[in-house]
Amino acid sequence: MPDLSRRDLLKATAAAGAGAVILPAVVTGGMSDVAAYGSGSDCKAECEPPAKLTGRIVRPQDPDYPEASLGWDELFVHYPLVIVFAQETQDVVNALTWARQNNVSLRVRSGRHALEGWSNVDNGIVIDVSELKSTHIDTATGIAKVGAGLNQGEAVAALAKHDLAVTTGTEDSVGLSGATLGGGLGFLLRYLGMACDSLVGAEVVVPTGIDGAKAIKADLNNNSDLLWALRGAGNGNYGIVTSLTYKASPLKSVAYLTATWDGLSDLQGIFDTWQRTAPLSDFRLGSQLEIHKSQILLFAVLAEGTAAEIRHLLDPILSIDTPDVAVQTGNWGDIYAGFQTPVADEPAFWKFFSQFTTDPFPKKAISIIRSFINDAPSEDSNYFTQAFGTGAQTKQPRGGSAFNHRDALFYAEPGAGWGDRANPDCDDPTTPIAQAWIAEFSQALRPYVNGAYVNVPNIGMQEWETAYWGSNFDRLRRIKQKYDPQNIFQYEQSVPPASC
Ligand SMILES: Cc1cc2nc3c(=O)[nH]c(=O)nc-3n(C[C@H](O)[C@H](O)[C@H](O)COP(=O)(O)OP(=O)(O)OC[C@H]3O[C@@H](n4cnc5c(N)ncnc54)[C@H](O)[C@@H]3O)c2cc1C
Repeated sequence: MPDLSRRDLLKATAAAGAGAVILPAVVTGGMSDVAAYGSGSDCKAECEPPAKLTGRIVRPQDPDYPEASLGWDELFVHYPLVIVFAQETQDVVNALTWARQNNVSLRVRSGRHALEGWSNVDNGIVIDVSELKSTHIDTATGIAKVGAGLNQGEAVAALAKHDLAVTTGTEDSVGLSGATLGGGLGFLLRYLGMACDSLVGAEVVVPTGIDGAKAIKADLNNNSDLLWALRGAGNGNYGIVTSLTYKASPLKSVAYLTATWDGLSDLQGIFDTWQRTAPLSDFRLGSQLEIHKSQILLFAVLAEGTAAEIRHLLDPILSIDTPDVAVQTGNWGDIYAGFQTPVADEPAFWKFFSQFTTDPFPKKAISIIRSFINDAPSEDSNYFTQAFGTGAQTKQPRGGSAFNHRDALFYAEPGAGWGDRANPDCDDPTTPIAQAWIAEFSQALRPYVNGAYVNVPNIGMQEWETAYWGSNFDRLRRIKQKYDPQNIFQYEQSVPPASC
């Protein structure tokens, strides 16, 4: 089917009954949502009454199913039986109960940016919280309770109106839930810690009893072990987070600097100088390097800083050759909105590989980067770094966290983007080339790195458990045993209960 676009394929397959998938009557509408459960069940008095799906429900035969099923990374195609867009917590409770009673596999979804497509599932139910958009900000205390459906851009804007901030990632369309629950790194991490470090509470829908579900609180006074786990290992592992409560910090204005060097001839000097200065600089300074085939880009944010200060702090790097430099100062919400790229302008397909490092890269590692970037499979391929080093992220928040990379010097990822989002080709010849490039690139850097980032999961990696969470993994398994002993929340690299 070479000429069939991915959206056409989704539509066609949905209309045909999701290809080879057999749809049970509970989903096709042949029976009511409550009907399938009960007759053949062993349940006696201790079971919940049959659940009914509530909220905005999208099934394969619905016209909006292709759009409702599509993730940000169009490399991954799934055909869920049903997608529930929750409008309130009770919809999530009903959906989880329904999934348990009907023995249907489930995935949790918010901003749809999962990088291996694991927030969607064939033949299962997707419980989508993206329409839970409430925002309550106590400007006196900085406590912000938000619905789990906010994306990062919405959260940054809502807080910035009150001169408040928490760390988020850089792209506005990424879900705040997905980013925070795996850690959440971005420009403000050296100033405010990881996104998860500001998380002081959550409402979470967890399984209860034989086939039920209920909403519980996780904070320092209630289920504090679950809060610990949600701070870095909460993505689709323990329950469905329906709201997030942050302690936001004051942030009036930032200085934002971009620098561009044409070509890669200065790469050794720029990379080495950056890794030896930026992560050890003033803790208000967050910075990223992006190395492309044709240019090297530096992005930096100085919290509560001036244009002169940010130039001064970055002078060792900026004085290499003659980069084009631009600096702006302003409200964080305005600056953040200003550096966004609309999703429609981004490639359709993406592949990344995450790596943390604690020691500066030697010359050889930087040469490896140069040689792979020279052979990059597309213009949208790059090697991305984010400074860690000294800074607020080195300290645990009160109550601790599962996030395990506080001693990193920097985070980095080779990434490739390709394919036309307006007309994606599921047989794109770049796909295997890009996948091989990422695999070989990350493999070549293995001697120089230690650890990986669960929010940018490395499929097929051995010992991913310790690469993501180190020695925290055993505790995560014990907490899983307590909140999800039947391993209802499971996917390719989910935390198993301690008893498994
Ligand atoms: C373009 C792009 C840029 C990125 N930039 C950054 C960055 O700057 N910094 C950074 O730290 N990360 C970044 N990431 C990684 C990002 O943090 C993860 O992809 C994140 O998990 C996406 O969250 P989501 O809600 O959008 O995705 P989803 O696909 O909805 O979910 C991702 C994962 O979180 C789980 N999940 C989502 N919502 C909930 C919930 N309410 N309760 C329980 N589990 C839930 C899902 O089950 C899934 O496992 C980026 C990713 C992309 C694609």
